Amino acid sequence: MDLLTALVDKGLRREPPTRDEALAVLATSDDELLDVVAAAGRVRRQWFGRRVKLNYLVNLKSGLCPEDCSYCSQRLGSQADILKYTWLKPDEAVAAATAGVSGGAKRVCLVASGRGPTDRDVDRVSKTIEAIKEGNEGVEVCACLGLLSGDQAERLRAAGADAYNHNLNTSEGTYAGITTTHTYDDRVDTVRQAQAAGLSACSGLIAGMGESDADLVDVVFSLRALDPDSVPVNFLIPFEGTPLAKEWNLTPQRCLRILAMVRFVCPDVEVRLAGGREVHLRTMQPLALHLVNSIFLGDYLTSEGQAGQADLDMITDAGFEVEGAETTTLPAHRRADGDGAPAAGGSGCGSHDTGCGSCEHGEPAAARTVAAATSAPGPAASAGARTDLVAVRRRGAGTDLPPNA
Ligand code: SF4
Repeated sequence: MDLLTALVDKGLRREPPTRDEALAVLATSDDELLDVVAAAGRVRRQWFGRRVKLNYLVNLKSGLCPEDCSYCSQRLGSQADILKYTWLKPDEAVAAATAGVSGGAKRVCLVASGRGPTDRDVDRVSKTIEAIKEGNEGVEVCACLGLLSGDQAERLRAAGADAYNHNLNTSEGTYAGITTTHTYDDRVDTVRQAQAAGLSACSGLIAGMGESDADLVDVVFSLRALDPDSVPVNFLIPFEGTPLAKEWNLTPQRCLRILAMVRFVCPDVEVRLAGGREVHLRTMQPLALHLVNSIFLGDYLTSEGQAGQADLDMITDAGFEVEGAETTTLPAHRRADGDGAPAAGGSGCGSHDTGCGSCEHGEPAAARTVAAATSAPGPAASAGARTDLVAVRRRGAGTDLPPNA
């Protein structure tokens, strides 16, 4: 297919596709799907080989958020039966993080619900970061605390944070329909504050919220322009008790096309398969490893993922390898100092010489175990919607049960 040949050539040169080419990837047929995966897989292997980076989420503070993000089980007014707790004690957070690192995670992602941290919150998280770094040599720590000021970003960086996550989530044009308590521009500003403080920016999207192909392409090109080092791709988990509970719009094939499109637009950036992979990709998860070079290990913020060992087995069985702490994730041209920090004056996703968030907080959770979701999918839902796969997290941080890592 001429389209795929052109996209591979561009990806290997770190050049972006045109907007029409990105749309064409999303419009490919199921008969073309393996060709699409193979083409994007060539780009993935060029910049990341067969390595898979593992990241581990620690939900520092769950639920009770004053913001109204429609996709989020922790939102204002959410009726989702999730764990709700205030800040974990530092030793609890360190124990959870250490479990993730012991399970193979290279990065720990410290996430807290809320609009943004107070200065006291930043002090608290800073102490936790220092303790995690002290006890886990070589671990990367990413914070995800919501909207951030420049001063707060600098304090997190000084405490040892390597990265900050704040997702754009959806296109500028659709943002106000998803959230009303803060704006798209607020999110862009926080990503820039993090970058200005020397933090590696992590910012991504959520697919499956009823958006159009054009919206998806818009948000991915906007992310490219922001030049994050990592781009998490979440697939909406339509939690019962949230406004998007009926939005079952995704198929495994659709998810793979979206991931391929993101890889073509951001060829040399860490593309991370995030929340929703178990629910929406299901048995097709291993194919996604040909497109992404990073996944979360174990559970998500408010939902359960497949067993951590199953993640490791999947990587091995598919012919990939877990990226070790001694290996730098990003290609050399995107590194300023060899530790994955953003290059000075870094350009957009792979484009130029120096190359190309959640919770908010990042990840709407995903899950594998059968649980509480009992709602029928909405009229536009895909026939294969698996509402039975949504499982609220009942283990790990905030519980007496050991974490899944
Ligand atoms: S995504 Fe973050 S800010 Fe939005 S409702 Fe959820 S926890 Fe609150």
